[in-house]
Amino acid sequence: MIIASNITKQFGKLKALDNVSTICNKGECIALIGPNGSGKTTLIKCILGMVVPDSGFITFKGHNILHHYTYRTDIGYMPQIGRYPDNMAIGQVLDMMKDIRDTTAILDEDLVTAFSLQKLFNKRMRTLSGGTTQKVSAAIAFLFNPSVLILDEPTAGLDPIAAEVLKEKIISEKDKGKLVLITSHILSDLDDLVTRVIYMQDGKLLFNKSISVLREDTGESKLSKAIARVMKNTMP
Ligand code: ADP
Ligand code: MG
Repeated sequence: MIIASNITKQFGKLKALDNVSTICNKGECIALIGPNGSGKTTLIKCILGMVVPDSGFITFKGHNILHHYTYRTDIGYMPQIGRYPDNMAIGQVLDMMKDIRDTTAILDEDLVTAFSLQKLFNKRMRTLSGGTTQKVSAAIAFLFNPSVLILDEPTAGLDPIAAEVLKEKIISEKDKGKLVLITSHILSDLDDLVTRVIYMQDGKLLFNKSISVLREDTGESKLSKAIARVMKNTMP
C-alpha cells in the first residue's frame, strides 16, 4: 500500500532520515519506535507529503506521491500535537472538517461518541486539556473512514480509559484490512495491537520485523522485553 524507497532527509547538517526503505501493507499495524529525535515524525511527514525527502521516493497504492496530493484524503492522520483555531468550539472544528471534505462519504463518528465529545461541542479549543485535544485529533483521524491511519503518539496524554477505547478502535479498523502506522513511546500500549515493528535510531532503520518473528527470535512475548533483547544483541 505504501512503499518508501531510500528516503533521505537532511535538516542542515543533521540527517533526520538516512536511506530508509520499507513496505507497508493493508491489514498491518506497524509500530514505529525509537528514541526521541530518531526520525519517526519526519518519516511520517514524508509519507504525508508534509516534508519532501532530499532523495528517494514514496508510492501510495502504486503511485508516486510527488505532485499527487489527492492520495491524502485516504489517510487519517493524528498528529503528535494537534493545533486548532483557539476560538473555535469542538463542534465547529468537526463541522469545518466535514465542510472541507466531500460530505457524501460515510462518516465514522464512533470515537466522537465513545469519547462523549458531543457533550463538549460548545467548548472552545483553547480551553481544552491536552487529553481532550488528543481525543478531538483521534476522532478526526478516523472520521472519513480512510484506508490508512497514521497515528503519532496517539495515547500520550490520554487517560487510561480513553487509551483503551482508542486501542479497541485501532484493532477493529486493522481487522477490516486497513493499514495502521503508529508511533509510541509507551510500548505496553502496543502489545495487543501491532503486527510489525520498525525500530529507528539516528535516522536509520535499525530493524524491521514482524511481531511473530521478533517474539520467536527473542523468546519474549512482551514487546518492551523483546526490543530490549534485540537492542542488547545488536549493541557492540
Ligand atoms: P522523532 O519523531 O523520532 O522524535 P523527529 O523526526 O521529530 O524525531 O526529528 C528527527 C530529527 O530531525 C531531530 O533531531 C529533530 O530536531 C530534527 N528535525 C525535525 N524536523 C525539523 C525541522 N523542520 N527543522 C530542523 N530540524 C528538524
Ligand atoms: Mg515524533
